[in-house]
Amino acid sequence: MMMQTKIMGADRDTRCDCCGRKLKVGILLSNLGTFGADCIRAAMPCDRSRYSQGKPDASWLRTLAKIAERDTEKRIAKMGYTRAMFLNVDPAKLEKADA
Ligand SMILES: [Zn+2]
Repeated sequence: MMMQTKIMGADRDTRCDCCGRKLKVGILLSNLGTFGADCIRAAMPCDRSRYSQGKPDASWLRTLAKIAERDTEKRIAKMGYTRAMFLNVDPAKLEKADA
């Protein structure tokens, strides 16, 4: 089942909550945890109306995480990235390895 989550920030030198993989930049998702960009992409549905490739690039997800970490909501809105911070994911595909 899909749910909407929000990119809250970036976590440096961490591990992915689903697979334990070491990450230079982990992406903090609201109510879900910290994950690698590739794992987040894998848990997202294809949406060509929103992303030309169906899903956002991993590097773009990391960039958004850094922006969320650095900037205020107001500044993010000014840059036009408010909506980009919200992602649809299947949380079952991001289940913690130790759960
Ligand atoms: Zn993972």
